[in-house]
Amino acid sequence: MKFYGDYHIHSHNSDGRQNHREIIEAARRKGLREIAITDHGPLVPVIGVKNAARYDRLGEKIESSDRQGLRVYVGAEANIRGLDGKLDLDRKTIDNLDVLIAGMHPYTIPSSLKDGARLFLQNSLRHLSRGQRRRAVINNTEACVAAIYANPELDILSHPGLFFAIDVGEVARACIQKEVLFEINCGHEYPGFSDIMEANRIGVKFVVNSDAHFPDTVGELDYGKRAIEKLGIDPERVVNLDGRGGLSEWGKKARVCIY
Ligand SMILES: [Zn+2]
Ligand SMILES: [Zn+2]
Repeated sequence: MKFYGDYHIHSHNSDGRQNHREIIEAARRKGLREIAITDHGPLVPVIGVKNAARYDRLGEKIESSDRQGLRVYVGAEANIRGLDGKLDLDRKTIDNLDVLIAGMHPYTIPSSLKDGARLFLQNSLRHLSRGQRRRAVINNTEACVAAIYANPELDILSHPGLFFAIDVGEVARACIQKEVLFEINCGHEYPGFSDIMEANRIGVKFVVNSDAHFPDTVGELDYGKRAIEKLGIDPERVVNLDGRGGLSEWGKKARVCIY
């Protein structure tokens, strides 16, 4: 089982330990046909990009570098900031990206105090009791579903449920409605097989990504391969398996800017 591309990779611009040249070399070594470099949105301290202009600058650097046949896209992994699904990237930045990922991350600056309490504080209380956990799951699910509905450009929901437990069924149904891909994240080995099985039963489409922060892990997609084989997932439901074409086949923008 081979993969065509890896669409979730971090560079020096956020918390990755690799520049675009190292990423390109690593992807070529792995035999990938295309990749997306998707640094964290700006409103999460330490791991986020310093400002949104970094995405444009990365695009310019990639354009002037030797890609030797590898197709390289510029994307972002935006942070979901509140129960209304607001992201930490403005419309103009999103319009300039080739691929948009969104996910929930600890320490994200919330869109309001109320969202901070209901989302991030509630989530940190989830270990205290079953009631607190239930409330966290309801709120986290609401935020993910809202992000899916509020952002028509969204291509991929990253590591669904990681750090922020969700109702997988509800999120999976929203992904189907709005044609958002349910990510199998190999770096975090998340979601677990039982959640992947549930999302598969409901009928999502998957993308298998590395979430690589180091050259060694670019294109490391073994966890997804194991999940597909073990759970008997129909290859037609995994958009980035070899033979399915690349981002231009399934990306919302399908805007090929770099060859
Ligand atoms: Zn993430
Ligand atoms: Zn990531």
